[in-house]
Amino acid sequence: MPEGDTVYLTAKNLAAVMDGQTLTRCDLRVPKFATVDLSGDVVDGVVPRGKHLLMRVGEYTIHSHLKMEGSWHLYREGSRWRRPEWQARAVLGVEGWTAVGFSLGMLEVVPRDEEESVVRYLGPDLLGPDWDASLALTNLLVDPTREVGLALLDQRNLAGLGNVYRSELCFLRGVLPTRPVGEVEQPEKLIDLAKRLIEANKDRAERSTTGVLRGEADWVYRREGKPCLRCGTTIERGQLGDTELELRDTYWCPRCQT
Ligand SMILES: [Zn+2]
Repeated sequence: MPEGDTVYLTAKNLAAVMDGQTLTRCDLRVPKFATVDLSGDVVDGVVPRGKHLLMRVGEYTIHSHLKMEGSWHLYREGSRWRRPEWQARAVLGVEGWTAVGFSLGMLEVVPRDEEESVVRYLGPDLLGPDWDASLALTNLLVDPTREVGLALLDQRNLAGLGNVYRSELCFLRGVLPTRPVGEVEQPEKLIDLAKRLIEANKDRAERSTTGVLRGEADWVYRREGKPCLRCGTTIERGQLGDTELELRDTYWCPRCQT
C-alpha cells in the first residue's frame, strides 16, 4: 500500500538517477498524453507532495499518483522488468537507466508553472518542507463529528497518510477508527505520532509501525482474525469510507481501542 513514505523514497531514488539528466525516452501510455514527448528535455527535480509525485522535465511537470497498486521502478539498461509490460503507464529513459511507472492511479502532464494548482488542495505534507503540525490539527478537527479514520485519510487535512497508517495510528492511540474525531483525547498526539512514524519509515523500503522489520511489522493492518499483539483479542476488519465507492478496509482491536 503506497503511503507518503513510499512516495518520498520513490522520489528520492528517481532523483538520484534522473536529476540533471536529459530524457532519452518518453513514453506515456495514457490516451490523453500519449503524444507528449519530452525526450531531449532535462529532468529538473523529482518532488514528493503527500502521496503525489512531481517530476519536473523542461517546461513541464509529469504528475503521478500511485493510488492502490502503483509503483515506479528503476532499471539499468537491458535489465528485466519485475512487473508485466502491460501494466506500464510511463516509460522514461535517461542514459543507462529506465524509469517505469506501473499501474499508476493517475498520470498527467501539466505546464510547470501550473504544477502548484494540482496539489494546492493538500493539507500540510507530513514529509514536506511546509509541515505544520498545528494547522494539520486544526484541519483534522474541522468537522468534529467525522470518523477519525476518515479525517486522517483526508489529504486536505494533512497529506501523506494512507490505509496502513490510519489503522495503525488508531490502534496506537487506542481509538476506534469510527470514533468521531472531536471525541479523541489529545488529538495532537495522533498528529505527532503520524509524523514520527512516517519519518521513521521514509528511508526504508519496508514499512514497520511496530519497530519490527521482519515478521510482525504492523499491529493491526491486514491482521484480521489474528490475535492482537498487545492483548491477544482477535483483530477485526471492517470498511470505512465517505461514500460506498470509497470504502477502504480498516482494522482494529476491539479491546485495545474504544
Ligand atoms: Zn488488543
